[in-house]
Amino acid sequence: MIDEKFDAIVIGAGMSGNAAAYTMAKRGLKVLQLERGEYSGSKNVQGAILYADMMEKIIPDFREDAPLERHLIEQRFWMMGENSHTGLQYRSDDFNEEKPNRYTIIRAQFDKWFSSKVREAGALVVCETTVTELVQDAYGKVIGVKTDRGGGQIHADVVVLAEGVTGLLGTRAGLRKIPKPTEVALAVKEMHFMPQEVIEQRFNLKGNEGVVIEAAGTISKGMTGMGFIYTNRECISLGLGCLVSDFQASGESPYQLLEKFKRHPSVAPLIEGSEVKEYAAHLIPEGGFKAIPQLFGDGWVVVGDAAQLNNAIHREGSNLAMTSGRIAAEAIFQVKSRKDPMTASNLSLYKKMLDDSFVIKDLKKYKDMPQLLHVQSQNFFLTYPQLVNKAMDNFLRVDGTPKKEKEKMTVKSFTSARSWAGLFGDAFRLARAWR
Ligand SMILES: Cc1cc2nc3c(=O)[nH]c(=O)nc-3n(C[C@H](O)[C@H](O)[C@H](O)COP(=O)(O)OP(=O)(O)OC[C@H]3O[C@@H](n4cnc5c(N)ncnc54)[C@H](O)[C@@H]3O)c2cc1C
Repeated sequence: MIDEKFDAIVIGAGMSGNAAAYTMAKRGLKVLQLERGEYSGSKNVQGAILYADMMEKIIPDFREDAPLERHLIEQRFWMMGENSHTGLQYRSDDFNEEKPNRYTIIRAQFDKWFSSKVREAGALVVCETTVTELVQDAYGKVIGVKTDRGGGQIHADVVVLAEGVTGLLGTRAGLRKIPKPTEVALAVKEMHFMPQEVIEQRFNLKGNEGVVIEAAGTISKGMTGMGFIYTNRECISLGLGCLVSDFQASGESPYQLLEKFKRHPSVAPLIEGSEVKEYAAHLIPEGGFKAIPQLFGDGWVVVGDAAQLNNAIHREGSNLAMTSGRIAAEAIFQVKSRKDPMTASNLSLYKKMLDDSFVIKDLKKYKDMPQLLHVQSQNFFLTYPQLVNKAMDNFLRVDGTPKKEKEKMTVKSFTSARSWAGLFGDAFRLARAWR
């Protein structure tokens, strides 16, 4: 197939792969990028929010021609009860700035655009090609790949594994372990189409303004998980994801949970009359800091979801993917510029640079969170949301009950559900995991 040798081969054309391939090609390295999908983004399921700061660090003027949907001016957090939600909402006109901070995007379109930039930068991008094997020399150094197109091996000084969370190449080659069911969430997502003016009316928006709603509580039936609603220009991305281990234990089906989320009285009016044009399911790495595998070795680095670089607490993934791809590329470029070989010890520069970035700093901050949320999922995702919603109902309902009695009722509902010790314990554990 391709018999020349490359400076780098990038496996995958998602956010991390495109960031890595673009950055290396822009610096003059000879890059081959292989993507199994028909085109970059064709396999992607993300919501999706694009974080401008991380994109700017790769393509500073991306706003000029990137396919962006809406810039976000409002975020709602909903704690869901059966027929209610208690919300926290932040909306600011300051987000209507010249260079907005966050956008909704449709990944299939955005990735295609990003890929065109990778090509323009000089990389050779080959789609509809699955890498089937990493080629290692007698000492275990990765020296290239084999693909489903046959034609033997393709060689490179370094291989960037940007194959996403389900990527099997790294695990098959023994470079990382298969993520545990407690470390990955299964998310399902639909695209609901409706006229632009209907979206703007329902979400109180004008022009290209957008809203994000993140919802947790009874919708996940006590499993560790969340729902989301993102406004695009002419459609709404709506989805829900829970840990795979919780799906296994509960026997719940993701599709039924999504249906229930859509029927919730707080959600149904937002999507009423819409036409569903797309349904997709995908895994999200949610193991956090403790699940990060070895990030580099002789002749290889791993980036993005394949490296479990996903901040489940802040629902950030693509920005960590982009940043790790860019940093890996910069590290490779530095090693190459010094004419040093792509050994593990030289490529450890990637980890050092990543450790110094927000990627590892943020994941480290929440290192105990995934375990806490998993073990305490019944409390955090069912009991407390039910109690908070009941307390709000009690607080707002005017029925002649003296307020003091109402307060006592609310306190009693919390202590009988969790006991004082349980309540203080949960608050303490949460505060400790959050710090
Ligand atoms: C429902 C959902 C909603 C999300 N919402 C958000 C959000 O709003 N904001 C956010 O920041 N993140 C979000 N994420 C997470 C985000 O999508 C990921 O973190 C991001 O896509 C990771 O990028 P990546 O390049 O590492 O992997 P991917 O985007 O998964 O790309 C991997 C690529 O590698 C290709 N590939 C795999 N194996 C091979 C092979 N053997 N040969 C060739 N090609 C291969 C795949 O086809 C794919 O194109 C969401 C995820 C999901 C599932």
